[in-house]
Amino acid sequence: MKVLRVAVDLPLANLFDYLSPPGVTAQPGDRVAVPFRMRERVGVVLELAAASEIAAERLKPITRVLDDAPRLPADWLELMRFLAGYYQRPLGETVIASLPPRLRSLRPLPREPERHYRATNHAPRPDTLRAGSARALLEALGSECVTEDALLARFAARRAAARIALRKLLRAGQIELVRPASRASFVPSHAPSAAQANAIERVTSSLGRFEAFLLHGVTGSGKTEVYLHLVARLLARGEQALVLVPEISLTPQLEARFRHAFPETRLAVLHSALDDGTRTSAWLAAARGEAGIVLGTRLAVLTPLPRLALVVVDEEHDSSFKQQEGLRYSARDAAVYRAKLAGCPVVLGTATPSLETWYNNQAGRYACLELPARASPGSVLPEVRTLDLRREAPEHGIAPSLLAAIQARLARSEQSLIFINRRGYAPVLACDACGWTAGCERCSARMVLHAADRRLRCHHCGAEGAIPRACPTCGNVDLAALGRGTQRVEETLAARFPQARIVRIDRDSARRRAELAEALAGIRRGEADILVGTQLLAKGHDFPTLTLVGVLNADSALFSTDYRAGERLFATLAQVAGRAGRRERRGEVLVQTRFPGHPLYRALARHDYAGFAASQLAEREAAGFPPYVSEAVLRAEAKRLARAIEFLREAAGLAIPPQEVRIYDPIPAVLTRRAGLERARLLVQSPSRAALQEFLREWSARLFAEAPRDVRWHLDVDPIEFD
Ligand code: ADP
Ligand code: ZN
Ligand code: ZN
Repeated sequence: MKVLRVAVDLPLANLFDYLSPPGVTAQPGDRVAVPFRMRERVGVVLELAAASEIAAERLKPITRVLDDAPRLPADWLELMRFLAGYYQRPLGETVIASLPPRLRSLRPLPREPERHYRATNHAPRPDTLRAGSARALLEALGSECVTEDALLARFAARRAAARIALRKLLRAGQIELVRPASRASFVPSHAPSAAQANAIERVTSSLGRFEAFLLHGVTGSGKTEVYLHLVARLLARGEQALVLVPEISLTPQLEARFRHAFPETRLAVLHSALDDGTRTSAWLAAARGEAGIVLGTRLAVLTPLPRLALVVVDEEHDSSFKQQEGLRYSARDAAVYRAKLAGCPVVLGTATPSLETWYNNQAGRYACLELPARASPGSVLPEVRTLDLRREAPEHGIAPSLLAAIQARLARSEQSLIFINRRGYAPVLACDACGWTAGCERCSARMVLHAADRRLRCHHCGAEGAIPRACPTCGNVDLAALGRGTQRVEETLAARFPQARIVRIDRDSARRRAELAEALAGIRRGEADILVGTQLLAKGHDFPTLTLVGVLNADSALFSTDYRAGERLFATLAQVAGRAGRRERRGEVLVQTRFPGHPLYRALARHDYAGFAASQLAEREAAGFPPYVSEAVLRAEAKRLARAIEFLREAAGLAIPPQEVRIYDPIPAVLTRRAGLERARLLVQSPSRAALQEFLREWSARLFAEAPRDVRWHLDVDPIEFD
């Protein structure tokens, strides 16, 4: 008896056993139609088994194999097993959720008329076959390469049978798709510099085997140009590249560069904002090996790629690579694992590596390729200075010398960017007079101000306290949350510079992708004088006449309770600074602060990532934070906070942690109430990733089996947000 173990499109933890009907040879990776509770559903065969625990007479056969999409390859199934196991999700759900929605339906997939077929060496001579569709197809193909349309047109009324025969021949490897990518022409924009050429050579020499590279290059150092040259090498060998990028809003510019460089190559673009049809056909082009390049956001890492030969993760430090719902995977980590499975190099590119990646590099696991200078002739990194807010009183949040700098740009018809830092903003209680901030007595963390119940809480250990009436160091009674007063920046600027064209770009003003793209294009054409924006403006854009960046509200992140806040602030400021002076005229970056001597700002001014990273790593090691320990959080949401906390407390008792694994006390989330539910979380930590994984496996099995219904919960492995 041959039993098929099938993942079915339902939110259920287990796989389901089916029989393979006579004459059908379903294999792992095949999409199949299965009968399930009176209905037919889509499933994916994950395993073949010799026997089932279910009585033979109760097993049903699958209905049919859905062979209009290619069989999911073994390394893809392996990736799914890894993701489900590591992030503690049911395997079936992981597999199904990783397919584009259209492939979770039984409807036949749209046929793609431009595909060409030809017979392979494995094809039998047509005259050795019995008369029938297969023989007719092989005869029609001969030694030519024929389009699917032309081929099927010969069969008139027997078209459906011919299509089935075509798929069978394809699956048997007797005919194959002709890959347009195999004759890829490459249009380079620049001859590589010495540093670029070195990076290209190093990665090229490891094509065909796994090796992880950190491509560490300042903003504008020509990292993208390196990716293009690498991709050209493997396209010439008929292979595929996977290129992951953080933001949808960035993709148009980058996409255009790829299209320009590879005019003949099929480029599959994948992100979550695509409509179903477009996403499906991009996915199919990738899975069939027709697309030479897959360019996309984190979900693109889940695409099957039969000829994968290079993985690139651009801006690898970006937090958008971590999925924040369902399967909470890190696309960056998944990309490294994929490269291992495929036996190919992976390149992590960034100006400001995540500390995890830097740590791996220091430990010798990732080879580091440096691009130390900007690539464009005459372009140098901007001058970064702090503006001391204790010396010059800001006018509605903006320092007079920053206003003067904007005025000077207006006079020269250059653009200014006023960047308002919103990221990682957790209110911290501070004293304006002496710089004191409320800290936890048990941790090296700041307390978070919870305005709703007027309490201070440590988000690391759960310690709690009242808001002091006066500053404990200087007696000042006017204590306040850091980082107020940024709301009216646009109005202030408009009042101060009535003749200037001011464009504001943030999540609210740029709800639609098309609008954002249009606004950015307008800025590039010089249709704005002052840009006001949040993180959306920091990334990747190339604004030719922008020479000034002013940074407001950076301090709030300096004293955040989130130990990643410093790392993120440095990365964000380096990014936003990278927008200034990308052409001949040198850029200037002015950071408003009450703490001008802070080491982070000093490192930023020296463009000294390595120095900054070394001090951060030392702090993390001393405090016992990642990457020196591994973490997972169990989050819970319930009608009442007490119930969420109680659930977490009970959950903690469900499994006994081994000695190296530590479970902390449950604490309320910063954003305690969301969408009518109260939220809390529980941190689990271990110096050993393996020990943590082993514990999580047992623990999550108990949770899935025993968790009560009135609490919503999930596990987040390697969490990066602690809101
Ligand atoms: P990054 O990805 O590191 O930000 P890019 O690849 O976008 O850098 O390059 C930054 C700018 O420098 C672009 O305008 C690009 O066209 C230009 N550039 C890249 N490589 C070279 C080179 N070898 N010679 C001249 N200009 C280059
Ligand atoms: Zn004080
Ligand atoms: Zn604490």
